[in-house]
Formats: sequence, C-alpha cells, structure tokens
Amino acid sequence: MAIRQVREIGDEILTKQCKAVPKMTLRTKVLIGDMLETMYEYHGVGLAAPQVGVLKQIVVIDVGEGPIVLINPEIIEISGEQTGEEGCLSVPGKWGIVTRPDYVKVRAYDQDMEPVELEGEGLLARAFCHEIDHLSGQLYVDKVEDGLHDVTYENEEEDEDETEE
Ligand code: ZN
Repeated sequence: MAIRQVREIGDEILTKQCKAVPKMTLRTKVLIGDMLETMYEYHGVGLAAPQVGVLKQIVVIDVGEGPIVLINPEIIEISGEQTGEEGCLSVPGKWGIVTRPDYVKVRAYDQDMEPVELEGEGLLARAFCHEIDHLSGQLYVDKVEDGLHDVTYENEEEDEDETEE
C-alpha cells in the first residue's frame, strides 16, 4: 500500500462525475488499500477516489468504528437533520457549518462486490453524505451556512503573548 497525493480544492478533478465500478480488479483493490492508508495518514474520517485523482465511485470511511468501503454507493433513505462542523482533506485548514440528515441509509457494494446496505447516524450519516457528494463532483464548501473558517490550534505561547492583536 502507498500514501497517495490528496487533490485540493481548485483541482478540476474534484468537480467531475465519477464512473461506476463494474467489477473488482487487482488495480482497484490496490487503490482501495491506498485510499485507506491515505485517509489514516492524514487523520481523515473519510476519503473519496476523486480526492486521490481517480474518477471511480469508491469511498472509504472510518469514524472510529473500523474501516468501511463503499463501491457505487447511493443514498436510499434519509431522515432527521443535524447541523455541525465539517471539514475535508481536500480543503486543508478550513471548516464550515453544514446541515445534513441525521440518519442515512446507503446501498452499495463492498470490497468483494457483494451488495450491502448500511445505516448511519450522526457523524457516520454526515460522512456518508460528504463522501458520496464527492462522487458527483460536489464539495461541502458549497453547502456551508456561515462561510469557511480557519482551523486554529491552541498554542500556549500565543495565549500568553499580550502583544497579539
Ligand atoms: Zn471531502
């Protein structure tokens, strides 16, 4: 497995429609392994294939409950609503407020091309929506409600610096 370069906002590939995966191949298996490794390396909770420059309908997610691989995913049921912070490995150093359904049911294929249906609530529901949006060229930045904010890191030295503006 290898860590792949993450494409960033402004890269045209992030705006394109991805193609369905017709069957599992060695090449796609390697891609999925690389996507998982890349997601973990950059501490993301999800990654979509176009983010590593591949226009295929593949998503990997791990919200802390183990890896999920979704091939050709589609959302078949939603309910409720949640409003919260969202970020993206393709938009580094930023976050924004996005409203998503609080419950999402997804139909997809797993790594063995077996059909699966998965349900998610809370963060997992948000991750399903965010990653599946990537497959049709959509980024969360077009859905933020209060603009994009810079990620700030707590820094003790800065806190004690009274000359800070
Ligand atoms: Zn993203």
